[in-house]
Amino acid sequence: MKRESIISQLYDKDKIFDFVVIGGGATGLGVALDAATRGYSVALFERSDFTKGTSSRSTKLVHGGVRYLAQGDIALVREALRERGLLRHNAPHLVKDQLFLIPCYRWWEGPFYTIGLVLYDLMARGLSLGRSVCIGPKRAIRTIPMLRREGMTAGVLYHDGQFDDSRLAINLVRTAVDAGACVLNYMNVISLLKEEGKISGVQVRDEETGAVCSIQARSVINATGVFADDILQMDKPGNRPTVRPSQGVHLILDASFLKSDCAVMIPKTSDGRVLFAVPWHNKVVVGTTDTLMESADTEPV
Ligand SMILES: Cc1cc2nc3c(=O)[nH]c(=O)nc-3n(C[C@H](O)[C@H](O)[C@H](O)COP(=O)(O)OP(=O)(O)OC[C@H]3O[C@@H](n4cnc5c(N)ncnc54)[C@H](O)[C@@H]3O)c2cc1C
Repeated sequence: MKRESIISQLYDKDKIFDFVVIGGGATGLGVALDAATRGYSVALFERSDFTKGTSSRSTKLVHGGVRYLAQGDIALVREALRERGLLRHNAPHLVKDQLFLIPCYRWWEGPFYTIGLVLYDLMARGLSLGRSVCIGPKRAIRTIPMLRREGMTAGVLYHDGQFDDSRLAINLVRTAVDAGACVLNYMNVISLLKEEGKISGVQVRDEETGAVCSIQARSVINATGVFADDILQMDKPGNRPTVRPSQGVHLILDASFLKSDCAVMIPKTSDGRVLFAVPWHNKVVVGTTDTLMESADTEPV
């Protein structure tokens, strides 16, 4: 992963990459790795650090999509559970089993969530991380002493995955480079190249030296997440926005907030959100909110 030797590959004027990927988040890095391992030539450009965007600021859950189960999207849950199992299998150093508790305060919630989560386990087939069970309030309080005991009718324990998003990204970069991909950060895509009206590559600026370079490609993939419209504007200035950004806030609290290795999941807050409180490096990550924003920022406040 020597920057100079990777950059020197860009200066071959006759080189046409099969793919240029814009954006070094989870999506772009996954695409670059997939393309490289299928034998395609691929260059990926990230304008900042890898996973500078959303991909280092997640709730760190590799979940099978419990919330999609509630929405009845069975196909999506199946796919997510399979991906969760594959990630756990391929990257056991980054993905671990995390126990969750749903505290229930209404009589029907215990049986309702137990049925849903047993279904969730069954859908994971051989890739399930552990069995879901319904427990009484006493055991729920023993598991997480900080929960409100008053009015609790039951608790439901289930398993899901937790991962380190930034480290997974760095592993993806290294594996993609091993497979022959040309992956560079601090390379800002500043415009698109066109031939006969069709996109034929990108112009990138090295943010360390200021050097600008044109790269030809058969396909250009826009994996810039919430910034996707900026790239679409380079193609067709004045294009109508396709992305409505929204912002999620996590609170990082001391581990004493939970006093447990078990995470809490609240399926529906009073304003309709799914809320997690998850142990993470001797802290607890609580979140998230979901607020529509007018524009996206690389340093959201
Ligand atoms: C609050 C919150 C919590 C979440 N929690 C989870 C979770 O627990 N588990 C889960 O699986 N998912 C979670 N998600 C979703 C997940 O984080 C995102 O789906 C994922 O990170 C999106 O990755 P991406 O690569 O598409 O975008 P990004 O990570 O935003 O990557 C886009 C990249 O493009 C780069 N870029 C932009 N413009 C240019 C340019 N011109 N040239 C070069 N590079 C450029 C940016 O710098 C950025 O690094 C969460 C999302 C949010 C908002």
